[in-house]
Amino acid sequence: MTSRIQDNAAPGLDLAAAVARDAADPLAPFRDRFDIPAEVIYLDGNSLGVLPKGVAERVAESVASEWGTGLIRSWNAAGWIDLPRHVGARIAPLVGAEPDCVVAADSTTVNLFKVVSAAVSLRPERTKIVTETRNFPTDNYIAEGVIRQCGDRHRLVHVDRPQEIAAALDDDTAVLMLTHVNYRDGSLHDMAALTRAAHDAGALVVWDLAHSAGALAVDLAGCNADFAVGCGYKYLNGGPGAPAFLYVAPRHHGGFRQPLSGWFGHRDPFEFTPQYDAAGDIGQYLCGTPPVLSMVALDAALDVWEGVNMTALRAKSQALTGYFIELVETRCAGHGLTLISPRDPDSRGSQISFTHAEGGYAIISALIAEGVIGDFRAPDVLRFGFTPLYTSFADVWHAVDRMAAIMNERRWDKPEFHARKAVT
Ligand SMILES: *Cc1c(COP(=O)(O)O)cnc(C)c1O
Repeated sequence: MTSRIQDNAAPGLDLAAAVARDAADPLAPFRDRFDIPAEVIYLDGNSLGVLPKGVAERVAESVASEWGTGLIRSWNAAGWIDLPRHVGARIAPLVGAEPDCVVAADSTTVNLFKVVSAAVSLRPERTKIVTETRNFPTDNYIAEGVIRQCGDRHRLVHVDRPQEIAAALDDDTAVLMLTHVNYRDGSLHDMAALTRAAHDAGALVVWDLAHSAGALAVDLAGCNADFAVGCGYKYLNGGPGAPAFLYVAPRHHGGFRQPLSGWFGHRDPFEFTPQYDAAGDIGQYLCGTPPVLSMVALDAALDVWEGVNMTALRAKSQALTGYFIELVETRCAGHGLTLISPRDPDSRGSQISFTHAEGGYAIISALIAEGVIGDFRAPDVLRFGFTPLYTSFADVWHAVDRMAAIMNERRWDKPEFHARKAVT
């Protein structure tokens, strides 16, 4: 390895060049807002974001003071009752939502059920829900559940290739349900174009932003999206099982009902009326009592977004992912790793995936054993997430340096690395 600092335009592939890129990175100071374990290179923020500084203290304070001392009074005094809307309002700018159109609630999966049901009910005469075969399984499973719930009048249409989606939309399509950034290969849909195509066919669109929110700027209002859901524990760093969020365009508020008609979605829950009277606004998408401590953690985690320029975030994400591809293809060449993420930076989110026929799981296990944390998706995908607020170019360099050693010496090919754990 040479340690020559290069001052020409094309950055070199040595460590010094990575260090120089970090020195020039306007987002580098944000890393200090997180507690990242020493000796770990964390490339899995697309699965579980790291712990932002201040969150542990905020949660401890909520437990000790708001719960311990305030007790039931804290619903009012500490604003617990407002958390779903308050946290939603803080997520709104990250996804380009209008005011009062986002709430934090439940899980991504449960929120999908609510919004897909609502969308289907707005197109009662139509019978198709269009999705992608390669969509995240829970999304498609939920669509199947909605269809059963609606008396099996609908059909779930699986499209195999992204370029075939628009052609699958017709005058019998009620809903187009897509994930903006694909969980396996990181490919990114053109939200504006596909939303337009769905609307041209008279259908509504549900976007899953699990791998978009906090990874790149999303413009739900600008794209005229109808509904969206997203995840609190990936790029939003809200902690394991953090509340998810959902978005409903203002034009759809109050015009129909979502099926989980719990008391928190009532116009006035504390009137305790015998019949359900749906709130006319985004509040209708709440269901029951929110998990307050998890809401507090997510709320505190959102502090890291203060002052973040989303254009710079996207530029760094594209640079990190491009750099990773270049390093892996150079330093791990000839070892059977095949890039499945788009090479065009404008066509991908903030993750990079490779396949490896024999060793996918074992290579990830060996990397984790050496402190480089990515993850594996069956049957053969090695997935690496790049979180622009805390991943450095030097992290990427060191990760690939260790990966090259593991590949060159076939260190991954040991029985202990092949044995699958319950969570991959
Ligand atoms: C991570 C992810 C989910 C997760 O759903 P949960 O309800 O939190 O388990 C859903 N959809 C997509 C596309 C995801 O990437």
